[in-house]
Amino acid sequence: MENQLMEKIVALCKRRGFIYPGSEIYGGLTGTWDYGPLGVLLKKNIKDLWWKEMVQLRSDVVGVDAAIMMNPTVWEKSGHLEAFTDPLVECKICHQRFRADKKEEVKAHEKTHKEKPQWTSPQKFNLLVKAYLGIIEGQQDEIFLRGEITQGAFVNFENVVSSTRVKIPFGIAQIGKAFRNEITPGNFTFRSREFEQMELEFFIRPQDAEGDKWFEYWRQERMKWYQALGIKKENLRFRKHEDKERAHYARFAEDIEYNSPFGWSEFEGIHHRGDWDLSRHNLSYVDDDGKKFTPWVIETSGGVDRSLLFFLIDAYAEEGDRKVLKLNPKLAPYKVAVFPLLANKEGLVAEARKIYEVLKPWMMVAWDARGNIGKRYFAQDEAGTPFCVTVDFQSLEDGTVTVRDRDSAKQERVKIVTLLEYFQDKLQ
Ligand code: ATP
Repeated sequence: MENQLMEKIVALCKRRGFIYPGSEIYGGLTGTWDYGPLGVLLKKNIKDLWWKEMVQLRSDVVGVDAAIMMNPTVWEKSGHLEAFTDPLVECKICHQRFRADKKEEVKAHEKTHKEKPQWTSPQKFNLLVKAYLGIIEGQQDEIFLRGEITQGAFVNFENVVSSTRVKIPFGIAQIGKAFRNEITPGNFTFRSREFEQMELEFFIRPQDAEGDKWFEYWRQERMKWYQALGIKKENLRFRKHEDKERAHYARFAEDIEYNSPFGWSEFEGIHHRGDWDLSRHNLSYVDDDGKKFTPWVIETSGGVDRSLLFFLIDAYAEEGDRKVLKLNPKLAPYKVAVFPLLANKEGLVAEARKIYEVLKPWMMVAWDARGNIGKRYFAQDEAGTPFCVTVDFQSLEDGTVTVRDRDSAKQERVKIVTLLEYFQDKLQ
């Protein structure tokens, strides 16, 4: 059943233009995915809503957008060259490689062999992706594509403090791509080799009580955000990291997990990074009274791709023949779809086109004049479009249209002149 659900989501994503396999016409590239016309809109909505919540609506957070390629010293200082590793084991029978800490995956593989498999002992495998920069062949510098976007916020700590009016406690927010040479990419986009993160580094005074207070505050805020955007409460939980699984920088850490078809899975981490990063980069902060100290950091690190996948899974429903993505309207790629009842009646097409043009500057609007109305509703339900507008013969007489609600499938007549206001109100 659960595998079936994943298969359905993957197929819907391809069919409707949310997500395609990366470089598909050349056989793909493992661990990479391309977002199509609907996927890119959904992704943008997630990032815009996150930015609004974490930067625009707050007065204690500012944003940065740091370069993906960084001086390699960053990765030495941050500890990633030494410790950004996963334990790799190889099956001695078929030579497939796995993460030793993902016990379920290792066990599942053991079942595929008749004889009891033997494993190599775990080796540390560094996840940083290498690249080469420079114009003289043979003398190029080895650099790394960033394995987490986090360091871009830390290396700009002094720049931000001196170029803005932020005072501790304050945060630096950032959204951007990260790259990891994952040992076992899989579960659709869940574990990719190229993905996007949305992160907050929140700088506080170094005291245990302060750390606990802000850690608690941010874990609650982040959980509330996912719930407010419609993920069902029962599909969300916190999970504390055990001592042995914590990243090299973390004093303590907790994940927000989703009850996915492949089990409870992390899609955001709340990390208490202590003074690990700033002290490794030799950075500090001077208070108004001249006292110098190294701030502590509480981090919220979410995956754009993983949350997108979980928003899709959580919103997917089958009701009779129809498959529907009951996405929160704020997330929905298209907000409204406009149709003329019949594509070959000029009067209907012209009126529908007028409505389409009026709404378009304000929101993403889809146009569909193919097939019959039933087929168009079917397609828009799968795309998660909250409202469909149909222009029919009555529209030409009394200036009203049918508005059909995605979730209830109920229809009502609305005056064309009030449509923009009607949708703005519903989409707030
Ligand atoms: P995992 O153990 O599941 O690989 P992680 O603990 O290494 O994840 P973090 O380093 O805490 O992940 O990264 C923060 C967030 O970035 C994750 O919660 C996730 O949403 C996202 N992320 C990390 N690795 C990947 C990946 N390979 N593909 C997609 N998203 C990822």
